[in-house]
Amino acid sequence: MDEESAMVDGVGRTIDYLRISVTDKCNLRCQYCMPKEGIKLMPHEALLTLEEITRVCHILAEMGIKKIRITGGEPLVRKNIGKLIADIHAIPQIEDVAITTNGVLFAPMAEELHRAGLDRVNLSLDTRDGKNFAQITGKDELAAAEQAMESALEQGMTLKINCVPCRQLNDADVVAVAQLAKERPVDVRFIELMPIGCGASFDGIPSEEILRRLEAVFGEAEAVAERRGNGPAEYYSFEGFQGKIGFISPLSHKFCDRCNRVRLTAEGRLKLCLHYDHGIDLRELLRDETMDNEHIRERIIRAVAQKPEAHHFEGLDDKDADKRKMYQIGG
Ligand code: SAM
Ligand code: SF4
Repeated sequence: MDEESAMVDGVGRTIDYLRISVTDKCNLRCQYCMPKEGIKLMPHEALLTLEEITRVCHILAEMGIKKIRITGGEPLVRKNIGKLIADIHAIPQIEDVAITTNGVLFAPMAEELHRAGLDRVNLSLDTRDGKNFAQITGKDELAAAEQAMESALEQGMTLKINCVPCRQLNDADVVAVAQLAKERPVDVRFIELMPIGCGASFDGIPSEEILRRLEAVFGEAEAVAERRGNGPAEYYSFEGFQGKIGFISPLSHKFCDRCNRVRLTAEGRLKLCLHYDHGIDLRELLRDETMDNEHIRERIIRAVAQKPEAHHFEGLDDKDADKRKMYQIGG
């Protein structure tokens, strides 16, 4: 397989982005993501080993994946995550390794992660109010999340802040979160809450409403014409801001026609769409000694051809909808 291979799905979308959930464990309990009482964790042997994850990355990199994001659960609770990042970073076709984290464990690991080749960090932060942070996440850890932000910037990593606006949880906090893009050289993105798992019990705030609220405080926003990367966010600039404000609007502005990603769950399912269960059990193939990389590649090509054309979160009640929760998929 040559280095210029491209993976194209059944409707012509090029797939070059892999998101890997390395664990279903988390050190927080964000109300819209995990139940307060905790979850029944997967048995350890059900999780892909780090070696298995690296093997999948090698196979997919040869098929056209160029960009990999590590997520979870909370990815930094997985042992030897720095080694995994270094091993993925060393794959010649991989141009970019990023992580999505709640930041609680990040600061003391920042240097090691940077050395391992971590280029970019997305930090999830729904509020800058300490009391509300504890209320939303179940833990009094705002200071650690803020420290994560400073450590990532000190290491020279590209940092983005992700915030999920939700009427019941952080309605009053979104302006303060956006203000971070004025104070620090970071982009702040607002992500519409999707009706997945616990998220279905809360009301997300549509992107348009957040934009109007920010304009009332910071003045008129200017839409950024060129795309920043090939992600789904639409960006705006505000006068006097160091970073941009982005909106990821899977509900109000569906972007499935531009979808370039597949997901690997912690138990090894290659998942083709956030909404649907379509995909294949790679763990079974990886642990089958009769399967070499070429066979696995053939199975992946067949699966990717079946990638759903779009999500239908707005329609719901879909018999094929995935029952997995966000902490199992990785967002
Ligand atoms: N623990 C890490 C973190 O919080 O960044 C990574 C995993 S978490 C599942 C990834 C992202 O998904 C977080 O930014 C979180 O806010 C977001 N998320 C969780 N449930 C969601 C939902 N129902 N709709 C939209 N985003 C959601
Ligand atoms: Fe954990 Fe991230 Fe889910 Fe919060 S959003 S409970 S930090 S996995």
